[in-house]
Amino acid sequence: MDLFPYLAADDYEQLVFCHDKAAGLKAIIAIHDTTLGPALGGCRMWTYASEADAVTDALRLARGMTYKAAAAGLNLGGGKTVVIGNPKSDKSEALFRALGRYIQSLGGRYITAEDVGTSVVDMDIIHKETDFVTGVSQAYGSGGNPSPMTALGVFRGIQASAKTALGTDDLAGKTIAIQGLGSVGYALAQLLHEAGGRLIVSDINPDAVSRAVSELNATAVGVSEIFGVQCDIFAPCALGAAINDETLERLRCKVVAGSANNQLAEPRHGDVLHQKGILYAPDYVINSGGLINVADELEGYNPERARAKVENIYQIMLDLYSVAMRENLPSHLAADHMAQARIEQMKQVRSTFIRGEKAAWGR
Ligand code: NAD
Repeated sequence: MDLFPYLAADDYEQLVFCHDKAAGLKAIIAIHDTTLGPALGGCRMWTYASEADAVTDALRLARGMTYKAAAAGLNLGGGKTVVIGNPKSDKSEALFRALGRYIQSLGGRYITAEDVGTSVVDMDIIHKETDFVTGVSQAYGSGGNPSPMTALGVFRGIQASAKTALGTDDLAGKTIAIQGLGSVGYALAQLLHEAGGRLIVSDINPDAVSRAVSELNATAVGVSEIFGVQCDIFAPCALGAAINDETLERLRCKVVAGSANNQLAEPRHGDVLHQKGILYAPDYVINSGGLINVADELEGYNPERARAKVENIYQIMLDLYSVAMRENLPSHLAADHMAQARIEQMKQVRSTFIRGEKAAWGR
């Protein structure tokens, strides 16, 4: 693959190839944009079919992190690491220490975190070589499992979506269909139940479904049925691509708002939601609570402060919807525009400051 045209197309800053033969390390760190601050993004370990696939994944994920941090109002850029290897058999202390040394060598331009295939234990090993790591053990000052904060952010985003689409953010008596009752989905279901919401749920794991039925008075439906149930809000909290050509025909909701990443199979599916009059809560904005929580570690983790920032997703979503309405844009495009605008504004602010400094030096 020709790398530089790819980097130029989305204006990537840096791609770092990390190799350590003795440690068995083959990793790629992609830094997309550091206008707002250091690039923060998780470290994914995966058995990629090819090196080109690993590079593409690192670049794609790094760019996604730029938008997520910008939309969440964080002073962070976007980056990602991918480690080529099997997370079940190829991990070692040497591998993660070697990676830690590479991260340290970037001098704070990139900060890593847990992701698919890596854990708190791996982050603790990386932490032996660098301070530019979050999601370490709570003993080292981490915010712990981010899922409850992600769920809280999604809950607040659902309230903002309900206010916009249904005229009230009071969820009492509203019907919410949740696809996926994992770490985030179940915690979200608990918050919605406490708020008086009526739950319809589905999961491939029957235990999670039975628990929601008995603890939260939820109604259980099949994994395919969930897309077609009559509800106010459909909350995809399982895997990506829940909104696609097939499911779009079946949705009977007024809002789509959940935690899953990459909910739209393709961006055009966001346009179709808009045309159908279904309000879509852009995934990377509504599910940014976990990132906001991890980012708080960089200032010395404070649970109250982190929670207050996550609660602010309510206001971020209201602002996003008002931009979408003012500019008559589908909400997924409004989110991209909002993130891009913030980055551009900060570029301007910084260049003004540099010009001011130069003028002062010239005197
Ligand atoms: P998880 O693995 O704990 O939960 C996923 C749940 O979805 C599981 O219970 C699984 O059985 C269920 N599931 C899988 N396929 C299904 C299907 N076809 N129908 C119904 N249920 C199905 O994951 P999680 O941490 O709760 O994350 C859920 C989603 O939110 C993922 O897309 C993840 O990328 C995203 N997300 C999570 C966080 C976080 O803090 N954990 C942050 C941002 C985004």
